[in-house]
Amino acid sequence: MLKNDMLETWDRENFFHPSTHLAEFARGNLPNRVVTGGSGCHIEDREGNRLLDAFAGLYCVNVGYGRQEIAEAIAKQAKELAYYHSYVGHGTEASITLAKMILDRAPEHMSKVYFGLSGSDANETNIKLVWYYNNILGRPEKKKIISRWRGYHGSGLMTGSLTGLELFHKKFDLPLSQVIHTEAPYYYRRPDLSMSEADFTAHCAAELEALIEEEGADTIAAFIGEPALGTGGLVPPPAGYWEAIQKVLDKHDILLIADEVVTGFGRLGTMFGSEHYGLKPDLITIAKGLTSAYAPLSGSIVSEKMWTVLEQGTDENGPIGHGWTYSAHPIGAAAGVANLKLIDDLGMVANAGKVGGYLKRALEDAVGGHAHVGEVRGEGLLCAVEMVKDRDTRTFFDASEKVGPSVAAALLKEGVIARAMPQGDIIGFAPPFCLTEAEADEVAGKMAKAVAAVL
Ligand code: PLP
Repeated sequence: MLKNDMLETWDRENFFHPSTHLAEFARGNLPNRVVTGGSGCHIEDREGNRLLDAFAGLYCVNVGYGRQEIAEAIAKQAKELAYYHSYVGHGTEASITLAKMILDRAPEHMSKVYFGLSGSDANETNIKLVWYYNNILGRPEKKKIISRWRGYHGSGLMTGSLTGLELFHKKFDLPLSQVIHTEAPYYYRRPDLSMSEADFTAHCAAELEALIEEEGADTIAAFIGEPALGTGGLVPPPAGYWEAIQKVLDKHDILLIADEVVTGFGRLGTMFGSEHYGLKPDLITIAKGLTSAYAPLSGSIVSEKMWTVLEQGTDENGPIGHGWTYSAHPIGAAAGVANLKLIDDLGMVANAGKVGGYLKRALEDAVGGHAHVGEVRGEGLLCAVEMVKDRDTRTFFDASEKVGPSVAAALLKEGVIARAMPQGDIIGFAPPFCLTEAEADEVAGKMAKAVAAVL
């Protein structure tokens, strides 16, 4: 590839990068990295670095980089028919096949899939469907949505509101008034360290119920949650959590939206997180792993219970007034079909569970005993190392010390990409499902060096 010496300048002059400290970038204090290629779990940049990507991009390149089967499916679709819309009964072989493949893999009570482009727009769709549903059922007051602190559901107006991380609210006038937050199922950070896991689960369910009763169940439409928290810290829930939450929701006739943008299609070692934890959601959000990010595509999987009411709604009101130009885009759909086939053919869901357990143990062995490592946790290929100032009291480092970003930077120097999560000094690991045990050992060994270099 020809080296264009202007790229760095053009980048700083023209490109508005998401989730970036704009002023630091403009001052040149943040590096720009031009990524040029990828294969398996590795990416390459134009400086010639080959890096082990232990976060699969943004936990989305689940089948790994450089999969020719998906690239060829995309090229074939683009040559045959790059685009047609999916309004009023139109579709393509790829989009119709993909809908069937998704429903074949989803929990049995799910009925249809509505396609979007990103996790954020799929969650916006979900909230609109919930509101539509309650309007059709003649309960216009039942509209508020409960999400959890530390949940991540996107960056739109509504989805940024559902997200329970301060960074995504600050100076954006979020959250919107229809959204309320409840306790995060974060056992390591429980309010009272003497609580057992079972006590903490009961506490989370009681907090939720108290909130519902305070607001009035007839004003609450839905509860949204990731089966295991992602961006908020990669935190699997305490034992029995979802069973207890589901019980409260059922009692108060509140819908459950399982946001499976990260956990969908295998990351926890099962096809869906709902299956892993025994949830019975009314809506499931899917994105990232649907195409392994080879093309943008997302979806809202709708339960039979909701579908019946949506159909009734269109009989009463005419066509549903919700559509994206690129819904079920043929190229995304072709990528999705090839991706799901590959996941099956290579047994990648089972590997995510197996190598995920291996990676967690390797990280525990490598850094679990360090004086500033509070917890090593994980489920499947979703693992985290949380660093603390004091292991006994679990005190946070001062944010100005930038411990998380410094450890991630030290790890990058070793040739491994992991993510400093936005809240707390947490390093997240969510590699592609093709990670080998040797690569897991490499990640853990280099993490030990990075922690030692900073702390
Ligand atoms: N939901 C979850 C659980 C996510 O992790 C993300 C993104 O990381 C989203 C929604 C938003 O997806 P997108 O960035 O594609 O809009």
